[in-house]
Amino acid sequence: MSKELDSPLTSLAGVGPALAKKLEKLNLYRVEDLLFFLPNRYEDRTKLHKIGSVLPGERCLVSGEVLLAETAYRGRRNLLVRISDGTGQLTLRFFYFSNSQKQQFKTGVHVTCFGEARKGSGGLEIIHPEYRIMRDTDSPATKDSLTAIYPATEGVQQGRLRNLTDQALKLLAKTPPEELLPEALREELDMPSLADAIHYLHRPPPDADVEQLLAGTHRCQRRLAFEELLAHYLSLQNVRALANKQPAPPLKKEAAIVDEFLDSLPFTLTGAQQRVVGEIRDDLALDHPMMRLIQGDVGSGKTVVAAIACLQAVASCVQAAIMAPTELLAEQHFRSFSDWFSPLGIEPVWLAGSQKAADRRESLARIADGRAAVAVGTHALFQEGVSFDALGLVVIDEQHRFGVHQRMALRDKGATELGQPHQLVMTATPIPRTLAMAAYADLDTSIIDELPPGRQPVTTIAVPDLRRDEVVQRVRSACTENKQAYWVCPLIEESEVLDFEAAEASYEMLTEQLPEVRVGLVHGRMKAAEKERGMRAFKDGTIQLLVATTVIEVGVDVPNASLMIIENAERMGLSQLHQLRGRVGRGAEQSHCVLMYKQPLGEMAKSRLSVLRQTNDGFLVAQRDLELRGPGELLGTRQTGLPDYRIADLSRDAELMPKVQRAANSLRDSKDVSRAIIRRWIGQADRYVKV
Ligand code: ADP
Ligand code: MG
Repeated sequence: MSKELDSPLTSLAGVGPALAKKLEKLNLYRVEDLLFFLPNRYEDRTKLHKIGSVLPGERCLVSGEVLLAETAYRGRRNLLVRISDGTGQLTLRFFYFSNSQKQQFKTGVHVTCFGEARKGSGGLEIIHPEYRIMRDTDSPATKDSLTAIYPATEGVQQGRLRNLTDQALKLLAKTPPEELLPEALREELDMPSLADAIHYLHRPPPDADVEQLLAGTHRCQRRLAFEELLAHYLSLQNVRALANKQPAPPLKKEAAIVDEFLDSLPFTLTGAQQRVVGEIRDDLALDHPMMRLIQGDVGSGKTVVAAIACLQAVASCVQAAIMAPTELLAEQHFRSFSDWFSPLGIEPVWLAGSQKAADRRESLARIADGRAAVAVGTHALFQEGVSFDALGLVVIDEQHRFGVHQRMALRDKGATELGQPHQLVMTATPIPRTLAMAAYADLDTSIIDELPPGRQPVTTIAVPDLRRDEVVQRVRSACTENKQAYWVCPLIEESEVLDFEAAEASYEMLTEQLPEVRVGLVHGRMKAAEKERGMRAFKDGTIQLLVATTVIEVGVDVPNASLMIIENAERMGLSQLHQLRGRVGRGAEQSHCVLMYKQPLGEMAKSRLSVLRQTNDGFLVAQRDLELRGPGELLGTRQTGLPDYRIADLSRDAELMPKVQRAANSLRDSKDVSRAIIRRWIGQADRYVKV
């Protein structure tokens, strides 16, 4: 960037410290920032409309002669100015006006104004138009380009923003910014130069395709979004490159204990599991940290894959830690791992927040002196006071809400003199491939795209809750046939108290209506031990019907459960519903999911429910979720999941990612260009890592 563009905003005419402060609220610091501060809509002031042909609802530029200006009192004081251009008449209406303003509108003067025409009591009117009194020499103020409307902040007027961007655009024209995308690439992608794109978006010509601009799909917008996505991608690749330079303990692949474990399993791994296990085992054998994400639909068998990775660590005499987002899920893993590993002479250690002090002390001691080869728990595993003797592998389950910062922090925390631990992240919320490219460019991904044999897809139906009695009957007959069922209660405004009350009410209703069925209740406000007791009772069949809040969303495994009822399904997101549904269909039995909804159903909810009725494929569900809700919901909050983009929007631009990836690869040998692109979009202080 040229020096002028790199200067603070105060270098522009009309910007003092006070205005600069306000502009900071819009994230505008340097002149260049203005160039990337794009309008969010445009107005057409390039043509003068004939008053006679203006329709109500149109935003338009008109010009006319003042016929009459009067103050009217209709409840409040109004200034009414009637103008005519010979084709028709129009009233300008002001609620706030000064005397001098009123004086301007003398009969016979010409005025040009812009605003939205609407039907008023006395014909067409514009309330508080932008206007200009014309002198004889003035020609009507039509503009050469569409008028940009910027996302404004309090105290900075549109006119001001347009003036500032005018200044910045002049500087841009004088010394265009360096074009960082190679010519050949731009040609291939049919993308304009950076300078042209910026200029176009701030001042589009009258014939610009406004619809495209509003949708954000204009080639000039794509040009900028592309470079921004590329900047973030390159930056994440830097994170990756840096990690590859860190040492990690190489874990040897030949491990008799792994074979012993595989022999002990009552099943053989699916082809997809074998492939992913192979990818992981290769990675672990290297002397820099593995950073791998496993995506696999609910029930695809990720846990056993993680267990094999842990055994490879144990065989090389380093420790493995498995972390789950909830105690319930961590407990389930602890049980699986204990069952699997005890016969091999390995006793996993448990660590979680709710643990008794003495137990905790014991766990900590075992983790610290290395007696614990495998530790299972919640994030308590990485809190202060926990020190591993020789941590070699960290497995993070069901954690898609995890940004690059957390990934890095975790690695650093786990570092020992052996180096950094290998990292395996597992998620059952499949992320569309393009989105994963943007969010996880620092990770390798493995996909378990096959379910264990014998599983039948869950059939899903949606019914209005008026038919609740039928649904209850359905639960009754399932339970009489010795099957088990979940009854999931609505999530109310993210409030645990209300969730709990709703669950409690459903629980009472169901106990009453189904006296012959053993009903249990699990909700978020229960103590971990209570929840555990409830879940365990359900798992061993003591309870046939489990009423629960969405706490059971992740990971819980009860193969005999084949019926899932979800109340108020219309309130839940697609991915969440898919997760919940994944709790059934884990055994050989044909499973069913009933989505109950309250009428009337909105358009959005309708499409969500129909997606679930149509497919069991988590990746398809995720893709539709991305389209319907945007990436923030899929990956968690903006702060933790994805970077803040200035221009790119992943729900719109994710399809650019394959091209971004190719471009990044082609820039592999042009370190200077990469660095310049990162600097332009992310700033000097690289958001992810200093390189
Ligand atoms: P998720 O990927 O959702 O975490 P789990 O790891 O909980 O799935 O596995 C779901 C169930 O499938 C478990 O009961 C597990 O023991 C079983 N399972 C895993 N792999 C296989 C396989 N290859 N064949 C049969 N059952 C399997
Ligand atoms: Mg799981």
